[in-house]
Amino acid sequence: MKTYLQTAEEVLNELNSDSNGLSQKEANERLEKNGKNKLKRARKDSLAKRLYNQLRDPMIVILIVAAIISGITAAYSRESFADVVIIMVVVMINSVLGVYQESKAEKAIEALQAIAANTSRVLRDGSIEEIKTEDLVVGDVILLEAGDSVPADARLLESASLKIEEAALTGESVPVSKVITALNLGDQKSISLGDRKNMVYMGSTAVYGRGSAIVVATGMDTEMGKIADAITQAKENQTPLQIKLNQLSQVLSWLVLGICVFIFALSLVRIYLGEGITGIGVLNIFMVAVSLAVAAIPEGLAAVVTIVLSIGVTNMAKEKAVIRKLTAVETLGCTQVICSDKTGTLTQNKMTVVDYFGFDEQLLGQAMTLCNDAYLNDDNKAEGEPTEAALVDYGFSLGLEKQVLENKMPRVMEAPFDSGRKLMSTGHKMATGAFIQYTKGAPDVLISRCTTYWDGKTQQQLTDTIRQEIRHANQGLAAKALRVLAAASRNWDALPEEVAPNNLEQELCFIGLTGMIDPIRPEVKDAIVECKSAGIRPIMITGDHPDTAMAIAAQLDIIRDKSEAITGARLDEISEEQLKQDIVKYSVYARVQPEHKVRIVKAWQNQGMIVAMTGDGVNDAPSIKTADIGIGMGITGTDVTKNVADMVLADDNFATIVNAVEEGRRIYDNIRKAIQFLLSSNLSEVLAIFIATLFGFTILKPVHLLWINLITDSFPAIALGMEAEEADTMKNPPRESHEGIFSRGLGVDVIWQGAMVAIVTIIAYFVGHFIEAGIWEIAESPDGMTMAFLTLSMAEMFHSLNMRSRRQSIFKMSHQNKFLFLAMVASLVLTTAVIFIPPIAAAFEFEAISFIEYFTAMGLAVVVIPIVEIVKFFQRKSARKQLIA
Ligand code: ATP
Repeated sequence: MKTYLQTAEEVLNELNSDSNGLSQKEANERLEKNGKNKLKRARKDSLAKRLYNQLRDPMIVILIVAAIISGITAAYSRESFADVVIIMVVVMINSVLGVYQESKAEKAIEALQAIAANTSRVLRDGSIEEIKTEDLVVGDVILLEAGDSVPADARLLESASLKIEEAALTGESVPVSKVITALNLGDQKSISLGDRKNMVYMGSTAVYGRGSAIVVATGMDTEMGKIADAITQAKENQTPLQIKLNQLSQVLSWLVLGICVFIFALSLVRIYLGEGITGIGVLNIFMVAVSLAVAAIPEGLAAVVTIVLSIGVTNMAKEKAVIRKLTAVETLGCTQVICSDKTGTLTQNKMTVVDYFGFDEQLLGQAMTLCNDAYLNDDNKAEGEPTEAALVDYGFSLGLEKQVLENKMPRVMEAPFDSGRKLMSTGHKMATGAFIQYTKGAPDVLISRCTTYWDGKTQQQLTDTIRQEIRHANQGLAAKALRVLAAASRNWDALPEEVAPNNLEQELCFIGLTGMIDPIRPEVKDAIVECKSAGIRPIMITGDHPDTAMAIAAQLDIIRDKSEAITGARLDEISEEQLKQDIVKYSVYARVQPEHKVRIVKAWQNQGMIVAMTGDGVNDAPSIKTADIGIGMGITGTDVTKNVADMVLADDNFATIVNAVEEGRRIYDNIRKAIQFLLSSNLSEVLAIFIATLFGFTILKPVHLLWINLITDSFPAIALGMEAEEADTMKNPPRESHEGIFSRGLGVDVIWQGAMVAIVTIIAYFVGHFIEAGIWEIAESPDGMTMAFLTLSMAEMFHSLNMRSRRQSIFKMSHQNKFLFLAMVASLVLTTAVIFIPPIAAAFEFEAISFIEYFTAMGLAVVVIPIVEIVKFFQRKSARKQLIA
């Protein structure tokens, strides 16, 4: 039987449930039997497929071809297969590491998704519980309110003006009003999804009102599940830096290929004219071309960036900033403006009523308690949305128990709160049979709907003088940084035909005002100071009254002067053009509607600024989407906003945003350090090979370069990614969002540092040859090659120390990087091992060098530290000069 044709009772009976929900025991059993409420994920690639993907890399293909060719020649000339074995081993290690890193990064992202996973409110054993959406079972009674994602397919039991947006399923973008009555087939065979007004479906969202429903299908049995195969999972997009690096790699690869072909052809001509072409001769020059390719292509770059990013997001999640889109990590570091909600983000959202205005406090308490969705728990503490809970607590302090009141005057109609209208109304049946409506909301809005007021005994005409007095009281409370809410009433002999808010919320009788404190979060003050020193502008956007907003903004040092605040109403009067110019003047926006937020973001973006914006309510989704960094609230945020956000704050805290920016800057800086390290290393190898080829000697073989690039260099590069932030990370203005990889001197640094390492490597070669042969000359030299290899690897290792900071002296760094220390030890051990363990050394064609040679090579390598220190010193000096000039 189709549940939309049945009455609610019939459905409850059929599914062995009741309006109190399932028992926990029953729910567990059903979960065990029917499985989780999850859509099946697209199947992941198999291990073999992943390995194959790694091997498809053009670089690896070149290497495999090289291995095959040297294998064939080795077979013909009966030489050893050492090269082939080493190339294949390095390729395999590299591919396995690649697969491992990839799956680790993927797991990090999955773990984040799990943290950000949605929860649902259900009735279990008659009480409201928040459970993981995947633990929902058929028969569960779920509660829905504006902003919730519908977690499963369900038949409605209760609907208070509930409206659902079902575009994902039906394509219809206008929200559908929901009912609870059974539908009639009429002469149709079935009713289409979009017309089943008493049903809600997984994948749609509640945008207005509230309701409850009984789950009729979960997981793959839902309508969404039926089309799940058609939904391809969105691929994690690459960050701008990753895209730029890929482009760079591609350009480099082609360039290198060109140079290799050129050198190959040139050498071919050379030997043709000289000793004549032989198999061995061609193989040799082919191997030189391959070494150049190996030397020039930064194989580890992409992997290092991915690893550093994924480690970064994992750390950020531990610090309560959950990244939902990887691109956000980079953008965070460029953030120039942070637009933040007030309530809950700058303040604690722990409301307590501390003051009131009115002529009948008892009635005020009654109105505030009844027109309210919070409730008293068994310990007589209010639970629910903090503003509402504070009012229920307030009522209780006056001796009014919410449940007792509600039993006496049951709710029979309601117009739910929304932040556009800033009001909420409920209607209650009284013992007399007549009805009373209570409305609460923003005082300025509510007072304009009042025509009378309650003077403690009777209803009186609201004169201008009284109106003025109320406004005055409101301002007085707001100036004390209190959040002020007003309450009013209206009598009905019979329930109105139309429960539309507009119809209800007029001709009201004013009852009173409550003022509640919402203390600022203590850590936010420091965060704002840090923001400012980091060149980031903090901005408060709130639905609250301007006086309250300004009082809090002043406490937090967000504004100094009243002229920096503006209201939503004023904003409406300003033209788009005007706003674009004036936007920099304002730091506080009060009494705004969610729509204003989009205008504010766009105006800032128009100034070329990178804007972060927080949001929690249903209507905040557009502004979160528009912002460069859309921030959802983990605690108070609705599913809708969390789903479109780039980052979700697990603690709703402004200070967490600033920490995330800091972390974003650190990660970006570190990636640049790793890039500089790897590129300068590649360049040094290219230069060394190039010069050696020009002068006709072999300085390093392809397998040597492979070893350095793929094995010993990658550990320090990753370790640089874990470097702690530098002392001035939050003292500089944000970087330009469009800056290229080589900006801020990185290109120049790569070139001279590459040249530096190349020079010490070549010197090492000649020193090696001199120690071996006792003569300075250009010649093939096994000792020279061994020393060049040792010097190059060790210079890289010492250079990774240099790269801990691009400009600061490494002797002034206050913290240690234990990962880098371990990576350096690993490099040292591996390099020494390949040189001194006889069978490996033989395979690499290394000569057993003496201790004198060993330490000479080390001595040459360590020179890179003082050289870089001296250059950094002058770089700092010139930067200071520029600053003064
Ligand atoms: P922020 O935008 O900083 O989160 P806010 O909570 O004041 O601040 P909204 O939730 O949009 O923003 O609320 C706007 C106004 O509506 C509030 O200032 C208050 O006057 C009124 N209001 C808030 N919650 C309720 C409620 N549950 N019932 C009635 N009125 C409310």
